[in-house]
Amino acid sequence: MSIDTEAFRRRMNDELQRIAETLAQAKCASSIVELDQSAVGRVSRIDALQQQAMAQSMLERLHTRERQIDAALTRIDNGRFGLCCACESDLEPDRLNADPATVCCKDCAEKRVPH
Ligand SMILES: [Zn+2]
Repeated sequence: MSIDTEAFRRRMNDELQRIAETLAQAKCASSIVELDQSAVGRVSRIDALQQQAMAQSMLERLHTRERQIDAALTRIDNGRFGLCCACESDLEPDRLNADPATVCCKDCAEKRVPH
């Protein structure tokens, strides 16, 4: 089975582009929160802090996703894309289609997640 790595590369580059746009927008939004804080009362300030915390965790998720995609693009470059990072067998095509940045096969993913 061969994988159309170029299609995955395009897909992941598109996603990186969207993440960059979202991050740029989020930066604008968080500077607005800071401005509001000095001007509003206590309840609104709590709201603003909660919004800021939510924005913060969203930013962290986006940064994590960025790193996952970067790593997957690197795997395309060095010819290891589509291989499980743990057992090195071929990844299931439906797993790759669901998430091109997937790093391990179904079996290894299940072994790894005892959380
Ligand atoms: Zn595996």
